[in-house]
Amino acid sequence: MKRQGSPTRELAAARLSDVNDERPVLPGGAPARLSIDLDAISANIATLNEVSGNAQVLAVVKGDAYGHGLVPAACAALRGGASWLGTAQLAEALALRNAGVTAPLISWLLAPGLDFAAAIRARIDLGAPAVWTLDEIAAAAREVGETARVQLKIDTGLARNGAYGADWPLLVEAAARHTADGSITVTGVFTHLACADEPENPSNAAQQRLFADAVRDCERAGFALEVRHMANSAATLLLPEAHWDLVRPGIATYGLSPAPHIGDSAHFRLVPAMTMTANVTVAKRVPAGQGVSYGHTYVTADETTLIDVPCGYADGIPRSASGRGPVQVAGHRFSVAGRVCMDQFVVDVGDLPVAAGDEVVIFGDGRDGGPTAQDWADAAGTISYEIVTRIGNRLPRAYQGQVA
Ligand SMILES: *Cc1c(COP(=O)(O)O)cnc(C)c1O
Repeated sequence: MKRQGSPTRELAAARLSDVNDERPVLPGGAPARLSIDLDAISANIATLNEVSGNAQVLAVVKGDAYGHGLVPAACAALRGGASWLGTAQLAEALALRNAGVTAPLISWLLAPGLDFAAAIRARIDLGAPAVWTLDEIAAAAREVGETARVQLKIDTGLARNGAYGADWPLLVEAAARHTADGSITVTGVFTHLACADEPENPSNAAQQRLFADAVRDCERAGFALEVRHMANSAATLLLPEAHWDLVRPGIATYGLSPAPHIGDSAHFRLVPAMTMTANVTVAKRVPAGQGVSYGHTYVTADETTLIDVPCGYADGIPRSASGRGPVQVAGHRFSVAGRVCMDQFVVDVGDLPVAAGDEVVIFGDGRDGGPTAQDWADAAGTISYEIVTRIGNRLPRAYQGQVA
């Protein structure tokens, strides 16, 4: 039976009213908004828990929970059965602790000079890719008078963060030294895959072999490892041999497919949690031959109705989706007409009767044929991760579903 989070304690700090007040309501209201379905996040974690067999689930909540809101999304993930949380930046891990989240928590993108003492006091596991990191953490631990929880990060082929090649044995050696004097305890070892969304790519097996060697190195050094982990969303869903003790899904937590070329959200039994909507500001009839938006890159073919949708690239609507980004109005699909502007874009809805105030769905869970964040990613030549993460910043969010 795998260990799962215990929501009652962890969620003591979070009620729906609290999280809905987390962001200031814009004076005067907002013409476009996000709705976040916390039950979808919980259900996605339950699905990932099922798929990952005996491994526990660490919900990755970096990047403000991929734009979904750090604390409410983290609480929903714990409620769904995640036993760990993870962030890249330390500030986000500390914010979770400040919000009352007590679940096991790791932060893995550390720069020299960060407040490691605060992290140690907050019982945050620290992902260490280099000897300097261990040295700074150990010094902070001595200052605090506690033993720091550290997880060693090996670079098995992503060539990004993590100890690479000959630096790995040096990292293990330094960790053994700091363990011997009681300043750290090595609680885990982990790595990150480069091509998990291509299950047949030979780099997956190569990374797996190097990671198995690294685990043996840690065992030989006598570290009492609690968790060994390498699987992101794609590996959780597609590479069972990469599950080890703990899987680290990020994008799948929020219901988006990590491998859209293999299957969409529904294929992986995931439900997108974020819906973005806006209200039409102006609807107008124009004749055939009217150029639309900056540069007149779109020209009406017939007399038609144009609607103005009040969100733009300042809200994270990618300008590169000009002429292509999909929307749904009254159950009908349309595309952006012409260029996306800073605060608005235009849609040609033909003869559909649309009036100011009518709702436009920018993206959502895709049921009823509506557009998804993946559709916007395709339209903009990017990945769904970038769509949801960048949209998070200016729009007010309303949370649906159960928090605690
Ligand atoms: C972002 C990240 C993940 C999650 O990746 P997804 O593709 O979103 O599942 C897991 N582990 C590490 C180290 C990461 O940086």
